[in-house]
Parts: sequence; C-alpha cells; structure tokens
Amino acid sequence: MNERDSEAVAALLRDKGYSIVPEEVNADVILLNTCSVREQAEQKAIGKAGHLSARKRRNPNLIVGIMGCMAQNKGDTLVDKLPDLDLVIGTQKFHRVPDHLDNVIASLNGLGPKPATIIDIAEEKGSQNTIKSHVEDNPNVAAFVSIMQGCNMKCSYCIVPKTRGAERARPMNEIVDEIKTLVAKGTREVTLLGQIVNQYAVREFPFVDKKSPFVQLLEKVNAIEGIERIRFTSPHPVGFRDDLIECYTRLPKLCEYLHFPMQSGSNKILKAMRRPYSIERFKAIIDKIRAIRPDIYISTDIIVGFPGETEEDFEATRSAFEALKFDMAYVFKYSVRPGTSAEPEGDPISKETKEARNQVLLDILKQTSLERNQSLIGTAQEVLIEGPAKRGNGIFVGRTRGYRKVIVPASDRLVGALVSVKINEVTASTLTGDLIIAD
Ligand code: SAH
Ligand code: SF4
Repeated sequence: MNERDSEAVAALLRDKGYSIVPEEVNADVILLNTCSVREQAEQKAIGKAGHLSARKRRNPNLIVGIMGCMAQNKGDTLVDKLPDLDLVIGTQKFHRVPDHLDNVIASLNGLGPKPATIIDIAEEKGSQNTIKSHVEDNPNVAAFVSIMQGCNMKCSYCIVPKTRGAERARPMNEIVDEIKTLVAKGTREVTLLGQIVNQYAVREFPFVDKKSPFVQLLEKVNAIEGIERIRFTSPHPVGFRDDLIECYTRLPKLCEYLHFPMQSGSNKILKAMRRPYSIERFKAIIDKIRAIRPDIYISTDIIVGFPGETEEDFEATRSAFEALKFDMAYVFKYSVRPGTSAEPEGDPISKETKEARNQVLLDILKQTSLERNQSLIGTAQEVLIEGPAKRGNGIFVGRTRGYRKVIVPASDRLVGALVSVKINEVTASTLTGDLIIAD
C-alpha cells in the first residue's frame, strides 16, 4: 500500500514537471513515506529522517518531507524532534504534496515568506479517490490499484485505523477506468489493495444476485481486455462467503493465489486480538477453496508473542500453520502500538520467546515451500515476465500465477508477455527455468 501511495505522489510530481532521480544524492526534494505498523518500522523511518534533516542543515536548499502513517501518527511531535523538516504529510493528503512543494520552493526562491514546517495531517473527505495516478515512463507490468482506504475493524494490536482513518471505498467505475488506462500503458496484472478488500463498498453498493460489491468489481476487472491476471490483498474471514470462493473457478483471470491473514491459531488469542473468527472458521474457508481449486497457493500473516500467548496457544498456531501448509507467510513479532486497545497490556512475552516462536514457524514454512516448489521441477509454468533481473545479462524475472518468483533467460521483447517456462531448479523462494519455445 505504501509503495502504491509513493508511486501516486511520484506520478503527480511528474505531471508537474519534476523528474524522479534514481539516486537519492542527486535529488533536490526527498520525500520519505513511512509505516507505523510496528515500532521497528517507525524507528527506521525516524533514523532516516534524522539523517536527512542533518543533510538539510548542511544544504538549506534541500527539501525534506515525511509522508504517510508515521507522519499521521506523530504529527507535531515529529517536528519537535526534527524542526528542519519542510513537510509532514498525512495519509489523506498525499495528493496535496505538489501544491505544498510549490509553496516551499517559492519561499526558497525568496518569493514567499519563510514558512515553518508545513504540517498537513487532517482528514479529507474523498481522499481515497486521489490515489489513482501511475508513472508514465516506466509502466509496471504488474501494478497495484488502491480500491479503498482505511479500516473500521478494531483489532486490538493494530494502529492502521488510527493512521489510515475510517473505511472509504472508491467508486467501481473509477477503479475500472484506472485499470483500463494501465492496460493501455502495458500493465497485464493488477493487485487490488485494501485493508479488508472483500468488504469493499459494502455500505455504498448493493449486493446483486447475492454477489458482494467486491465480487462485482472482480467480475468487471476480469472483463477488461488486456488484463491477464488479478490478485487482491488483504481479505478477511469476515464476509469471505461462497460468492467470493466461487470466483476461483468462475473468473479465469483470478490467479490461484490467496493472501489470507490468520494472525493466530489459538481461539483465545484471536479473541484477545479482537479478530472476529475462530480458527475452525478460518480453516473451513481454506478447505472450501482448496476443494474447488486444489492448485491454489496460500500465504498468510501471523503475529507471535501477543500478550497472553502461552506455550499452549503457540502450539495451536504452530499446528494450524503446519496443517494448512502455507506457501508463503509474513511472521511478525508482536509490537505494542500507541492508542491500540492492547497497549495497556504492555509487552509481557520476552524477546527471546518471540524470536524462538518466529523461527519455529519460519522453519516449517521453508520446508513446506521447498516441497511445493520441488513438485514443480520438470513442469511447464505460465510466467508473466515483469522485467530484467538485477544481475542483468539477459536474465529476467517473472511470476507464476501462484506468485512464485521465476528467474529465466529471456529478452526485452518478452517483458509483459505470458510465456511458458520449464522449471529446472528451485529453492524455497525462487524457481529457475528455461523458456519453452513453441515449434
Ligand atoms: N488489514 C490486514 C492487515 C494489515 S497490517 C488484515 O487485517 O489482514 C499487516 C500485518 O501486520 C497484519 O496482518 C499483522 O500480521 C501485522 N501487524 C499489525 N499490527 C502489528 C503489531 N502491532 N505487531 C506485529 N505485527 C502487526
Ligand atoms: Fe488492522 Fe485489523 Fe484493520 Fe487489518 S482488519 S487493518 S489488522 S484493524
């Protein structure tokens, strides 16, 4: 989501005549987009912002701004700490960056009063509709599209509702138009983004033939000519009903890949996290999807070390994690976030215990993921070539429909093309193969 927001700001600036430079040292303006989901992410952002402020003291013409969740979360106090910042831009104000920059530049050029730091972190009605611009010159074969902003849930560990505000959906036709524009520029795959994507517009649009607005949107995207693949992230067990499950057989462009956050395998912890589902319900949804799409790839998010997580609770997570055979997972060590309902409970699980539990899950994942990848050796996989690999030399990177990364010798001509690749070698995270050239 942050990548998408940053790209939208970059595109707006491009439209105003700015150019995006690859190296930070060559930039006249540096905007840092930030995450607040865990304390570590904020620490990292503060460290970086401190470096940039110091650089600005040596070069007063350098413009430095902080955007996104940490700007929203810390607001004024960020400026108390880093008074040299030019801009502090909240999560509903990304689209205002070009205007604010104009003012900062005017004052640097002696055309306006020397401004104090511009802090713009208010709520703004309709701001969800402003994250829609994409950079023109280097279009993404696989692009992100933000379909909604904010979240109305109250998961006890999570800062997102505070930093991103209440749930707000974009109109369906605007999302479809954005994707059509992307197709014209070379995009072949879209990932629809939202905090609970399957809740998309449940209050704004009616259900039609028992189909949720999200399913209606998937149908519309599936019908766009030129789009080859559709993904979405993140769905929630709440509202993950049969109309969505059936999409995995009905909509050919919907990839057999699902990122489905479980968070914990213990019903006691799920309840304490205020996640309104049981592990049985979570498993039942996966069972249903696997029954109709046995080839689906599933990834998840887990938090280890939530307050009150006993050995027994972790064992429930471990066994569910093992039984569900996730193909990918993000395992997070619990981090106390200010203003959340779990904050008063502190952080009673030791760092060592969290680290050990984290490692147990990563070991299982490595094994499961490697086994699944090994089963692909010798098979032909449909790969969308996304671009050259960092190491260059005629090596390209693409992904399978199951979101497996594939390394393959290819040519520039094939960027954006769906090709068939014979898989020769695998690791737990990557497949390597050769193009299968049709006779
Ligand atoms: N809306 C998504 C999650 C967005 S946050 C959902 O509900 O599934 C991305 C992930 O960060 C979460 O799934 C969770 O696993 C992790 N996370 C959020 N808050 C956290 C915290 N305080 N400590 C550790 N991990 C956290
Ligand atoms: Fe956070 Fe829960 Fe909302 Fe996801 S659903 S963003 S975890 S509050």
